[in-house]
Amino acid sequence: MRTADIAKRYLTYFQKHGHLVMPSASLISPNPTTLFTIAGMVPFIPYLLGEQTPPATRVTSNQKCVRTLDIDEVGKTTRHGTFFQMLGNFSFGDYFKEEAIHYAWELLTTPQDQGGYGFDPEKLWVTTFTDDEEARSIWKNEGFDPEHMQVFGMEDNFWTTGGPGPGGPCSEIYVDRGPEYGRDGGPAADENRFIEIWDLVFENYEVDNVKSKTDLHIVGELEHKNIDTGAGLERLAYLMQGKQNIYETDEVFPVIEAAEKLSGRTYGEDADADVRFRVVADHVRSALMIMSDGVRPSNVGRGYVLRRLLRRTVRSMRMLGVRDHVLPTLFPVSEAAMEPNYPELKDTFHEVSESAYGEEDAFLRTLESGTTILDVAVDQAKRNHGEVSGEDAFKLHDTYGFPIELTLEMAQEQGVKVDEAKFRELMHEQKSRARADALKKRHNVDLSVYDDFKKTLAKPIDFLGYTDFSSRST
Ligand code: ATP
Repeated sequence: MRTADIAKRYLTYFQKHGHLVMPSASLISPNPTTLFTIAGMVPFIPYLLGEQTPPATRVTSNQKCVRTLDIDEVGKTTRHGTFFQMLGNFSFGDYFKEEAIHYAWELLTTPQDQGGYGFDPEKLWVTTFTDDEEARSIWKNEGFDPEHMQVFGMEDNFWTTGGPGPGGPCSEIYVDRGPEYGRDGGPAADENRFIEIWDLVFENYEVDNVKSKTDLHIVGELEHKNIDTGAGLERLAYLMQGKQNIYETDEVFPVIEAAEKLSGRTYGEDADADVRFRVVADHVRSALMIMSDGVRPSNVGRGYVLRRLLRRTVRSMRMLGVRDHVLPTLFPVSEAAMEPNYPELKDTFHEVSESAYGEEDAFLRTLESGTTILDVAVDQAKRNHGEVSGEDAFKLHDTYGFPIELTLEMAQEQGVKVDEAKFRELMHEQKSRARADALKKRHNVDLSVYDDFKKTLAKPIDFLGYTDFSSRST
């Protein structure tokens, strides 16, 4: 089943059970504490908190998500994308635990020719929260094998917003890929063999004192209990399509094939090269989807995350031996693979791709000028104490526009460290000098006109950091 069809089947199933199908919200998070939409529930937070009236008490969606938190996992595990799609069904004070578990079980185990996903019940495992006897008994009544249930504490199986408000236990559903993929013993033993596909959150408590998850205080039961679930579309797709990981599914793999052609190398022959192929496929798709929602490369916030994704793509292709431009080949391939599910991509593709290609141009120039200097510094480091000096890292930044993250990454690839502390010290000194210079100038020139200008126009800017490293269950 194609990824788009798996998504459609989910929405159709829940529509049949009285859910209103909602379109995906933008990847640009409406929530000011995160840069991107990181879960299906994000657009529904006002309804879950009871602050706004939802359009229906049962809704379902296929939400575009970006989690930069998972960037280091990409290509290395079988199941983490920076961009992915989270299917979800939500109840705002309507049905609760019993129906949520029943729906999940029914959709997963009903044969494919009868509208379900056709998973073998014997391959499914669930985890539940320590005190949630109710969930365990519902799963058993559905016919779930008690031997395939595991119990976890607050840290893993209790959800909160991170502050006072609603909270509740969750139950996660896993698929066992089989003994050839790892150890026996369920999700507690091996999360590469047992793949988490769906998280059901039962919001029935009001909590406070949420400083630490192991020490929170349950104030009481909520009047309106909510259901919030999240199922990873790419994870379902890879398991249902009999693939080895999410990067080999129909929406992602065409980029790997295009990268194979560009590089003249074959995916599946070398473990390190395979990680690079997968990083490329993931990052190209993420960049495309983020740009289609209006983000452009820049040095702050979302634009910086995007810039890193594009640069990592270019660098990964370099490590596969391609020194020329790659995005003009890879971007259209990704767009074609995603278009069946997102026909609106074609409306902005011309502008989006031109911007991406411009970014690649600029980055290739930066790389040309800085790489030789870095290589010399790395060689020296290898001969001396295994560390690129802070002075060299600073020079790369200051003269060649090499961001420190790039220096760190490239040095790490060659097995050497960077004296980051010295680099930061030099950056600090440079800033102090610039401030002192500005002050000197200020004393010589009357800048009061600018002060008025600043007062009327300047607004404080919230610096959101370079990445939104926050994440949550579902
Ligand atoms: P994991 O521990 O495997 O990283 P998670 O606990 O962070 O997953 P949730 O926050 O519960 O996942 O998200 C709900 C579902 O979304 C997961 O069950 C999974 O199927 C999917 N999912 C989460 N993160 C990713 C990702 N980076 N790439 C692809 N799918 C994901």
